[in-house]
Amino acid sequence: AKQAGKNRYHLFDVAHDTAVKHQREWLDQMRRALKEGEFVLYYQPKVDMHSGLVLGAEALIRWQHPQRGLLLPAEFLPGIENHELSVEVGEWVIATAVAQIGAWQAQHLLLSVSVNIGALQLQQHHFVDRLMAILERHPDVPHRHLELEILESSALKDIAVVAQVLHACHAREVRIALDDFGTGYSSLTYLKHLPAETLKIDQSFVRDMVSDPEDLAIVNGVIGLARAFGRQVIAEGVETAQQSALLLSLGCHQMQGFGIARPMPAAHFIPWMRQWQASPFVHAS
Ligand code: C2E
Ligand code: MG
Ligand code: MG
Ligand code: MG
Repeated sequence: AKQAGKNRYHLFDVAHDTAVKHQREWLDQMRRALKEGEFVLYYQPKVDMHSGLVLGAEALIRWQHPQRGLLLPAEFLPGIENHELSVEVGEWVIATAVAQIGAWQAQHLLLSVSVNIGALQLQQHHFVDRLMAILERHPDVPHRHLELEILESSALKDIAVVAQVLHACHAREVRIALDDFGTGYSSLTYLKHLPAETLKIDQSFVRDMVSDPEDLAIVNGVIGLARAFGRQVIAEGVETAQQSALLLSLGCHQMQGFGIARPMPAAHFIPWMRQWQASPFVHAS
């Protein structure tokens, strides 16, 4: 038994060493990817389904990996979640999105773009300064055209610090949205203490709202909360005409989802908009 125990520890150490080595290689690869420009932002339209107006887009990171092809954030962001590299990647995301707002604006398109902000990024005390430095490089871009999507889990560690950072952003007219709203344990506390203009109804509730009365009640509740607190509300993960119709009937007009458009490279966005404006509400799926 003693022997087996020893072996087990030995195996554990090997597994641990391998994991550490793997993590280090992964970090090196991502550092290189950042330097070589392998990260790209895809843009998913946000639409007012009542008027058909395209309001803007959410920027979503992808990694165009030379061997593995296009990787989704779930495949590479968790590996750097608590690492300082995630802050660098996050800054690249903001800088790229702000440059894109400027590029669209130069083509007379006033679109707002939202970016997802990681937990570690938000806890940097230089966050606001860095954000302002990026915006200063694009003096033509109004701050209100940039929106930060914040996960409840990002604020969990230290809500006082996060609230302070977000109030500073808010004071500089950068907008805030609470992402995946309702999936955490303290959504109401965040709603009360964070200066968010917008609540994003999580796609897990939208997915089943047509068949599940509890999910429908949650969706309805978030819409009611938004109204009571004077916030805007957007539903994410809208895939079907039925979901869209139901959301409209509940008073949620802003939507985002595969049923409207999938995330796409920036170069596809204007052609997509032309097509959308020619025949809005025609669902892609
Ligand atoms: P999120 O911010 O909640 O983004 C929405 C996710 O749902 C995106 O996945 C989007 O492609 C997907 N989605 C949109 N509409 C539909 C739909 O109708 N049906 C379904 N099934 N999915 C839909 P994606 O791009 O894989 O991103 C996943 C998560 O990764 C994001 O969730 C966000 O939390 C994180 N993320 C993405 N980009 C960044 C980034 O630049 N920085 C950070 N920190 N996180 C990011
Ligand atoms: Mg988001
Ligand atoms: Mg979300
Ligand atoms: Mg999410």
